[in-house]
Amino acid sequence: MSENNHNPNETDISENPELIEAAAAADEMVEISDAEFQLTDNPAEGEPAQSETIVEPIDEDGVPKEGMHIHHAESADELFDCTIIGGGPTGLYGAFYAGMREMSVKIIDSLGELGGQVSALYPEKYIYDVAGFAQVKGKELIASCIEQGLQFGPTVCLGEKVETLDKDAEGNYVLTTNKGKHRTKTIIIAAGVGAFAPRKLPKSPELNPDLLDDLEGSSVFYFVKDLDTFKDKNLLIVGGGDSAMDWAMGLEPLAKNITLIHRRDKWRAHEDSVRKVLNSSVDVRVFHEVKNVELADTNSGSAIQNVTIYDNKTKEETKLDIDILIMCLGFIANIGPIKEWGLEIAEGGISVDSGTMQTNLPGIYAAGDIARFKGKLNLIATGFGEAATGANYAKNYIDPTSKAFPGHSSEKDEAGHK
Ligand code: FAD
Repeated sequence: MSENNHNPNETDISENPELIEAAAAADEMVEISDAEFQLTDNPAEGEPAQSETIVEPIDEDGVPKEGMHIHHAESADELFDCTIIGGGPTGLYGAFYAGMREMSVKIIDSLGELGGQVSALYPEKYIYDVAGFAQVKGKELIASCIEQGLQFGPTVCLGEKVETLDKDAEGNYVLTTNKGKHRTKTIIIAAGVGAFAPRKLPKSPELNPDLLDDLEGSSVFYFVKDLDTFKDKNLLIVGGGDSAMDWAMGLEPLAKNITLIHRRDKWRAHEDSVRKVLNSSVDVRVFHEVKNVELADTNSGSAIQNVTIYDNKTKEETKLDIDILIMCLGFIANIGPIKEWGLEIAEGGISVDSGTMQTNLPGIYAAGDIARFKGKLNLIATGFGEAATGANYAKNYIDPTSKAFPGHSSEKDEAGHK
């Protein structure tokens, strides 16, 4: 069984993110950083692994809490002024701007954490072309985007993938996700290259990965959030990228025992992280993949009993006593459902008016990697500008007496309000 369906014909674009754009347009599979990345029209493949709605996205990793006033939606069908699909850098900046324009805002993302491609694919890489930073690590940029984006208290729904777009009897938009419905007057689609979902182990005669779905959050993980869960446990980490390395090092002091397997001997992680893991107590086995996961019934439901791994060169099998399986196999991006919403699609993205970010549907704007117009550049910097434009025109759409031009934020009071 392959660790992640590796196809020898795939293009390795770890150092060339421009190829993602080409892949997005062509709907082909490419490999990025430690992740394999696939654009697909099959919604089943993009099913989010985490399906928890989180209204207080404050994590263990020091994401700033001060000054955040998270808005708790009063009811499931509360009408919002602006709903942003996508919690990447573009969506977060859009949430800030819409909040500063005094709109009630909701962010929905299919992933269990904010930050889009930056958090999922290159949190440890330095970015050199974001205004205001000579250089900044991906995860540090996202921490700042979260602090800025959440300061006006948007409702944040994570682990929810938006599947359909409709209108209700009052003419408001209704977005349906795998968890429920969201009513909104305007929408900013900041969906990047599509809904992200962690890649799961592939099916094989020995293993049906669907059987692991019920264990997500108890003994199968795609994200590490609450470190205590892993205390004194036997862990198996699968993957050879930055996430695998970070989690191996982060959990080493807590876990009883960590084994890390990777299907080859080439790493897709920062050299320094790899060196630290190799010099630690983590039992690293290259050319190893998962063969089978045996489950056992316990008082609190099903749990992992042991995991059989195998050496993909010698075929030798080893049975490991494992409590928790952490899979760092990359992400699948799925733009599929958005194509069915009646939006004008161009080159795999959404066609917009470049002056307003308006799509062909009234009150719906697109920004960031998903937006298409003549001369479009897919950069974090351009996504920020497009998000600001979309949010300001969304404000003007809801309230035509309010100008699209927001005025200068420096002339507002400290809270950013007039
Ligand atoms: P994304 O970051 O893709 O976020 C979109 C979010 O929307 C995702 O979290 C996704 O899960 C969510 N979503 C999509 N569809 C749905 C749905 N239906 N329901 C719910 N949620 C949904 N750019 C630079 O400017 N400088 C760089 O140095 C740089 N380096 C890069 C290095 C790599 C390896 C890669 C891969 C990219 C790099 N980029 C860089 C590009 C940059 O990351 C993107 O331009 C940027 O992330 C786009 O932001 P976004 O918010 O528009 O989309």
